[in-house]
Amino acid sequence: MHSTASDGALAPADLVALCAQRGVRLMALTDHDTMAGVPEAAAAAADLGIMLVPGTELSTLWQGIGIHVVGLLPEGASGELAAGLEAQARSREARARTIAERMEKLGLDNALARAREQAGPYRPLGRPDFARALVAAGLVPDVATAFRKHLGSGKAGDVKAHWPALDEVVGWIVAAGGVAVLAHPLRHGLTRRKRGLLLDSFVEAGGQAAEWVNGFQNADVTRDLARQLDERGLYASLGSDFHFPGGHLAPGSMSPLPRAAVPPVWAHPTLAGVIANYHGPAGAL
Ligand code: AMP
Ligand code: MN
Repeated sequence: MHSTASDGALAPADLVALCAQRGVRLMALTDHDTMAGVPEAAAAAADLGIMLVPGTELSTLWQGIGIHVVGLLPEGASGELAAGLEAQARSREARARTIAERMEKLGLDNALARAREQAGPYRPLGRPDFARALVAAGLVPDVATAFRKHLGSGKAGDVKAHWPALDEVVGWIVAAGGVAVLAHPLRHGLTRRKRGLLLDSFVEAGGQAAEWVNGFQNADVTRDLARQLDERGLYASLGSDFHFPGGHLAPGSMSPLPRAAVPPVWAHPTLAGVIANYHGPAGAL
């Protein structure tokens, strides 16, 4: 799930409170390319008796495609990952300047300042901030159109050149004692075969899990993805990928799970021990 540390609408503590209210007992905060929201979320989680797995969703590149990799990081960020997160923040700044130049060519004057106005003063800029700036300037009717015309895959604002390679990022996560999870493998419009090659590269790099269910998805597709995970010994992650209230997804909501052989990511040895040893105020887990 995402907070105001990246492109989510709720402050970390408010996100955790909403999760608690909805009966979520185990959650991961996975803001884009940052762990800045984790201390606030962890304090709220401790108060409310739910378990928070610190995490981040890192932007990477694989064969020219922008691929997101979630790091579930019970020990937080250290070593190469800590340095990597600093580099990601600088990459995001450089990328925002490039996106701004391209949006200016499309008629959005002072694009960087306008995106910053949307984001507020603190967090690193992302494409959703430019999407909202395009809407605010009246250049497109809504965010979906902004992505479809100007910021989505293959469009002018889809700037990926700044991101590190997939295998490098997986290495950072594993070296920090984390579990690397390939995010939403169904979202890139890949053929089944190409998705298999992506999963192969991910496993070869040391990746341990993939997102099996991301919000709502077709049950046949979910069953088929389970086979691709099972064939490669990958653990399955599930989640809402929650960004903001009022949309079709709330924390803890996702498609029902078909029966499948893949083990859940919280059973991965790296996380299972931490979870078993958790005794929150409510003794919830
Ligand atoms: P960035 O991290 O700057 O590449 O922005 C990625 C974020 O943009 C994703 O996490 C989504 O929240 C959002 N996004 C990507 N594609 C779309 C889309 N077609 N419509 C709305 N939001 C999108
Ligand atoms: Mn993502």
